[in-house]
Amino acid sequence: MNAGLEKCPFCACEMRLISFGSRQVLSPTEAHDQMCILASEKDFEVAGGEDFGDALREAWNWRAGHPNLAQEVAEREQRIAALERRLQGDAKIMHDLLVGNQAAWIEWQRGAGAEAAMTWVQNSLMGVGVPDEGAPWATEPQAWWDANKAEPFPTCFCGRPSNWLSRGRGFCGEAHMREAEAKEAAEAAGKTGLPLFDGTSPDTEGGACD
Ligand SMILES: [Zn+2]
Ligand SMILES: [Zn+2]
Repeated sequence: MNAGLEKCPFCACEMRLISFGSRQVLSPTEAHDQMCILASEKDFEVAGGEDFGDALREAWNWRAGHPNLAQEVAEREQRIAALERRLQGDAKIMHDLLVGNQAAWIEWQRGAGAEAAMTWVQNSLMGVGVPDEGAPWATEPQAWWDANKAEPFPTCFCGRPSNWLSRGRGFCGEAHMREAEAKEAAEAAGKTGLPLFDGTSPDTEGGACD
């Protein structure tokens, strides 16, 4: 009857679960220790069949497995508060980046022109730095963006970063997407061995794509 029941989390006495048909009673096998905070409590009882007994066992075991529940909750609250502070900080960074871009746009359209507007952009890079000239794709704006954005598409079969997405595969441009589609159509029609896309290029960017 007491199979699978945790001991009392406060005095470590053995517990048991007894089914009286329509009543399920959880109580100490003997008794709680005199000093146990459950010593003066009545037995835990639910009205219902044995599946209610299973639920009672589960609830008891969960609580018995968390003897420092108040401390656990306090730690989680601290963690949540820290995450909230972090979130607010990130939101401010994002906000200021966008306002900086607006200032750059104002400079471009209503101020000293495009060259001066770029100073706003350059200033926004003080924290992260400008791309190192030797870094991959550092001389191609589109490829730089494709390779370094937060969630890059899967790499094109030619090895370049992608900005086209088609049925879970990435392509560096429309030409390579059409090429892959043509090969797929040909294969569906029973032609194989086309000297085109071999479909084996590794996803070097590790891009998430769904
Ligand atoms: Zn106890
Ligand atoms: Zn390509």
